[in-house]
Amino acid sequence: MAITHSPSRLALFGQPVSHSLSPRIHAAFGAQVGIRVDYRAIEAGHDEFPQALAAFAREGGIGANVTLPLKIDAFALCSSTSERARRAGSVNTLILDGDTWRGDSTDGAGLLRDLRQRHGFDPTGRRVLLLGAGGAARAVAAALIDERVHDLMIVNRTRQRTIELTRSLASDCVFTCDLAKVELLDDQYELVINATSLGHGDARFDLPARLLAANALCYDLSYGRIAQPFLDWARHAGAANACDGIGMLVEQAAEAFELWHGVRPATAPVHALLAA
Ligand code: NAP
Repeated sequence: MAITHSPSRLALFGQPVSHSLSPRIHAAFGAQVGIRVDYRAIEAGHDEFPQALAAFAREGGIGANVTLPLKIDAFALCSSTSERARRAGSVNTLILDGDTWRGDSTDGAGLLRDLRQRHGFDPTGRRVLLLGAGGAARAVAAALIDERVHDLMIVNRTRQRTIELTRSLASDCVFTCDLAKVELLDDQYELVINATSLGHGDARFDLPARLLAANALCYDLSYGRIAQPFLDWARHAGAANACDGIGMLVEQAAEAFELWHGVRPATAPVHALLAA
């Protein structure tokens, strides 16, 4: 296969990013379709991000991904955004358009594709519990409502963020609960998603096991060591199925790759590479 000469300059911004698999995923996609990819992980917090992104564009950057804690910052920084990014109020993919950034959100589509294609789970008509109300949770919540879940219970530590998310979703199938009051919930859920960054610290998950329906799938958006506390809780609580977000990571990356290069790479070989 012919390989392009000048590399496509891409980056991931966030904090922390040193553990990220995204550089490997995009290098593998590029090799698959004959595009040379220079994809770097750039450490940046809220204060550094605008300057770091501007410097990256001056150095020839044409696209970027954004991870925690910058997805809402990235949304505010874009000159234009896709419909799904506006629904989520969050951006994980930036595309250089002239000298401004266009924003999109590929997280929701990535999760849906992984749920359906790898885990055989159709969210339509299901009862869903979502932990978290940050950038990733926003994208996931909007995508699940668009797929017509039966109801969506959003549980978050900070009430104000839950209120803002619920307002922007404007759906009568959305319910909320403070994390501190999760003990009071007495419904059962078929899909429980962890979209918090709790696993980055030392904290343990301690949710009531009765929240899980008999056929429940527990899904952590994180992967590796960071997903472990939630997966340990899920297995201990008797979940029928528990998995991390490695499949979603590959699927959301494929969507972003297509936005930058106009070609969709195959995800199965890259997922198999990472799983191995
Ligand atoms: P974010 O915007 O910073 O949101 C973090 C969320 O975690 C907030 O809801 C926050 O609650 C909650 N949280 C943090 N520490 C907590 C604690 N000690 N106890 C309870 N809640 C806590 O982050 P994000 O961008 O949404 O990312 C969330 C996670 O998803 C990250 O681990 C990220 O790596 C993962 N992710 C994976 C993929 C994938 O493709 N697999 C895609 C996107 C994200 P408050 O509102 O109370 O602060």
